[in-house]
Amino acid sequence: MTGRKMYVTGGVGATDYGEAFSHAYDLPPDLAYAETCASVGLVFWAWRMLQYQPRSVYADVMERALYNGALSGMSLDGKSFFYVNPLECRPEDCHKDERKEHVQPVRQKWFSCACCPPNLARLISSVGQYAFTWAGERVYIHLLMDAQVSLEGNGAPVRLELSCGMPWDGGGTLRVTGLAPGARLQAALRLPEWSGAFQVGGAEYRDLDDWVKKGGRAEHGYLILEFDRDGELPFSFSMPVRFLRADRRVREAAGQVTVARGPVVYCLEEADNGPDLHLLHVDPSRPTRAVAGDVCGEPVVRVVTAGTREPADPEGELYREYVPQQFQPVELSWVPYYTWANRGENEMRVWCALP
Ligand SMILES: [Zn+2]
Repeated sequence: MTGRKMYVTGGVGATDYGEAFSHAYDLPPDLAYAETCASVGLVFWAWRMLQYQPRSVYADVMERALYNGALSGMSLDGKSFFYVNPLECRPEDCHKDERKEHVQPVRQKWFSCACCPPNLARLISSVGQYAFTWAGERVYIHLLMDAQVSLEGNGAPVRLELSCGMPWDGGGTLRVTGLAPGARLQAALRLPEWSGAFQVGGAEYRDLDDWVKKGGRAEHGYLILEFDRDGELPFSFSMPVRFLRADRRVREAAGQVTVARGPVVYCLEEADNGPDLHLLHVDPSRPTRAVAGDVCGEPVVRVVTAGTREPADPEGELYREYVPQQFQPVELSWVPYYTWANRGENEMRVWCALP
């Protein structure tokens, strides 16, 4: 980065060299640096914490960083990359506002300082190693993903197979094969923070307390499942649409919410909702729909919420008398944040105003 003053987000000590930090809770969505490498680093950090202490809170952080800030760094066709991942973008700003010249409205083929593309490539190509860790006869399942794990002990290897529909469907099956007579295997299955009620082996549980009350064993946010012979166990974590808000010390997100489903955080794009996204309001009290669809042919689950749109102003005075007004009802179509800017330059926002 050159010696131009930049306004970026995060911690302490602004400098003239970009990639600097401001103060705690200073998180403007349009000026956010949110470098792809920072999310990749967060995955690495969370994984090391899991090796030190298996706590589901670390895996929740790892999963959120993986499916959002990290994955956003690469286009859906894998050919272009973001260095900076803002939470709000108006392409005209990127072209005309020098405070935002670090923000690109579409992914780039390469960078002069090209840390993010290879960092993301090594994360994605080794993602399996972050999903599982093991200790003694216990296998920890931190991330739900289709996988085969081979556990080699004194005898023949034991195979643990996980099949599921993540990140769109929280259901799956755990299959154990090759367990010798008398041997045991414990699978510690993370209860994701985004899960509502869940099912294991056909029985339904409201939450972790309910699981324990009904005789289930749990440790630090993981369901402890015992296998004393080969077999399979179906499970299902419900994936309700959730509205999220920021801590109230984040001034730029005041009075706004975003949408998440499972580990995936969503955003609004101009391609689906028209221009002037700042005129949209989302109403969390109204029903939502999760709809199977696609972005550029990639299957995703979109979320539809109810909202309103303020009318754009005709040319006139810059400041006008405030008059209460009914806004036009609209459906807001949300796409996963990591898919934004795959359909050319267009407006995007993660935070949307409440009515
Ligand atoms: Zn980087």
